[in-house]
Amino acid sequence: MDPIAIVGGGPCGLTFARLLETAGINYIVFERDASSKPTPRFQGGTLDLHAETGQKALRRAGLFAEFERLARRDAMTMVVQDSQGNHRTTFGETRDAPEIDRLQLRQMLLDSIPAHRIRWGKTLCSAESESSTQSGDVSLVLRFADGTTERGFSLVVGADGAWSKIRQLLTPAKPQYSGKIFIEGRLSLDNPQYSAALEMVGAGNSMATGARQTLCVQQMADRSYRVYMGLVAPETIARAGGEIDVNDMSKARSAMLGPGGFFASWAPELRAFVDAAEGPWRAWPLYRLDPDTFLSAAGSDDKDSGRWVPAHDVTLLGDAAHISIPNGEGVNQAMYDSLVLFESIMNELNNEEAGFESGKEDGKAALARAVIAYETEMLPRARDYILRCIEDEGMFWGDDAASRLAEMFNQASGQVNVEHT
Ligand SMILES: Cc1cc2nc3c(=O)[nH]c(=O)nc-3n(C[C@H](O)[C@H](O)[C@H](O)COP(=O)(O)OP(=O)(O)OC[C@H]3O[C@@H](n4cnc5c(N)ncnc54)[C@H](O)[C@@H]3O)c2cc1C
Repeated sequence: MDPIAIVGGGPCGLTFARLLETAGINYIVFERDASSKPTPRFQGGTLDLHAETGQKALRRAGLFAEFERLARRDAMTMVVQDSQGNHRTTFGETRDAPEIDRLQLRQMLLDSIPAHRIRWGKTLCSAESESSTQSGDVSLVLRFADGTTERGFSLVVGADGAWSKIRQLLTPAKPQYSGKIFIEGRLSLDNPQYSAALEMVGAGNSMATGARQTLCVQQMADRSYRVYMGLVAPETIARAGGEIDVNDMSKARSAMLGPGGFFASWAPELRAFVDAAEGPWRAWPLYRLDPDTFLSAAGSDDKDSGRWVPAHDVTLLGDAAHISIPNGEGVNQAMYDSLVLFESIMNELNNEEAGFESGKEDGKAALARAVIAYETEMLPRARDYILRCIEDEGMFWGDDAASRLAEMFNQASGQVNVEHT
């Protein structure tokens, strides 16, 4: 069988690659990064992997023991409070969702597949259908920024994140800015605010919420902290010349803390984390697809409806399929996609009646059926997920966010919670 092309070596592209590796299925990953070394774009925070999705994919991939070695089960605590530091409550384990650094997850997945399966420095520019002059067969050709092209794949899988170049083969939908942006800084072990973070957050996470801002402080594997300053703000605010130009740290800090600034009226002990957050700050504007993208296109005669029209030789995984504003599920949904597509492929390839094993058909027909099975499960799940994220936005960002969050954690666990004030 011709190789399966996976575009993008993020969490879901690499999980899918590993799953194919375990089954001896031919594949190749094309990744934009020049190498496995962290780039400024990819330094990563920490991710909690959920039992029924992210962890389940790693189990099937034979990587669960290695995951457990790296996973931080003592990091499953969450401190919730409002912008004045009131109602500060620490919640214990609400579910089986240990943390792992994004970089550790990537390295673990990279170590589980042979190096020659990944082509680094391959930025996809476009993917187009092409018909063979000899056979008349239509197949996909991938065009890369380095001027090269690749063709001859049994299936093309777009795992290339929010700004997927493969997505347009399935839907004209484009991610829309949510009106919210995170600015990321860090607290190293020698930062003057480090001990305050250790006291407030410990090994886990914390979230303080105001009407139009949120402040998250979370510990990483090396015990440093990431600080995420969430703002309701224009998409351009952190760009060159913007109010929070991340290349002009003193301007950015004063837009956060100065008179009229985003965190001007916050409690001094919380403002201190913003003040101390080391640069360079990085901006994460948050985008999402319209949930209606995932409704059936059948019967819809509006060509510009944006709905997903399935194709037999291409599909999407993870953020490429269903980018949404983070609610803690993104990477889990992404890795679960990989599992569902893989299981669908295995079902088809193992189905003797389909004739694949007996050589009556090439693998392409089996893969096309697997794509249909995968998308039948994934499309409604993607729609539910984005709708849930939209609902959660109200909880993470509203005036009464801290009390609503506390209520949610209480309902989820009924476990350890200590109110400090
Ligand atoms: C600030 C922030 C915090 C988050 N926190 C959490 C969290 O706590 N928990 C959680 O579950 N989720 C979180 N998410 C969401 C999570 O990061 C994503 O859902 C997850 O990374 C999706 O994985 P992916 O493999 O689909 O895409 P990505 O992680 O985006 O990986 C895509 C890969 O494709 C490569 N690529 C991109 N374009 C091309 C191209 N043209 N050609 C070749 N390669 C390309 C990229 O270099 C990358 O390696 C957060 C997101 C943000 C922005």
